[in-house]
Amino acid sequence: MSESVESSLRALHERVLTCTLCRLSEGRHKAAPGEGPTGAKTMFIGEGPGKQEDLDGRPFVGKARKFLDECLQSIGIQREQVFITNIVKCRPTEKVGSFVKDRKPTSDEIMACRPYLDKQLELLKPDVICTLGDTARSEVFKRFGLEEDTIGHVHGRVFLAENVRVVPLYHPAAALYDNSLRQIIMIDFQNLRRQLSQSKLTSF
Ligand code: URA
Ligand code: SF4
Repeated sequence: MSESVESSLRALHERVLTCTLCRLSEGRHKAAPGEGPTGAKTMFIGEGPGKQEDLDGRPFVGKARKFLDECLQSIGIQREQVFITNIVKCRPTEKVGSFVKDRKPTSDEIMACRPYLDKQLELLKPDVICTLGDTARSEVFKRFGLEEDTIGHVHGRVFLAENVRVVPLYHPAAALYDNSLRQIIMIDFQNLRRQLSQSKLTSF
């Protein structure tokens, strides 16, 4: 991987860490720009950081991590081989009484953060983008001009767009307490494996 991609990505992530383009900067501990090798040709995109991600400044290190790692391992991929990021890089929260809860990012927050994801896509040029959950699916579908549809219809299918294949998957956190969804996600990952091997990708 060329040094310039590596240093451009590093510089981009530095900018994310101090970004104040939207209100999510106000409550964050750390932004989670994303991580993975710069040569990664498979990218996973979630919705936004949760509590643990906000504390660590890394995507998918909280509750959903174990199941995501399990899914990746079931198709012979280590997390460190793929690039993982989110639609928004800072944790969206709301106060409910004295509790701080996760919430979905709003459309203005998503729009404010979009240049960072666009730049990550431009630098990494992934062959395959797996979206995790419906927020990521919807944004990536819009970005690549794919027709809107629900995650229930499209999960696990492969959509060709520009030079990339988009594979919408359910969010791993949704399966934490739903065993049948867990099975569906595992099957979708098997399909993803077939896609990756058919495309003869030698690196993930
Ligand atoms: N959920 C997400 O969508 N992203 C994370 O990084 C963690 C949980
Ligand atoms: Fe900046 Fe994105 Fe964080 Fe908003 S969510 S402050 S746009 S990095």
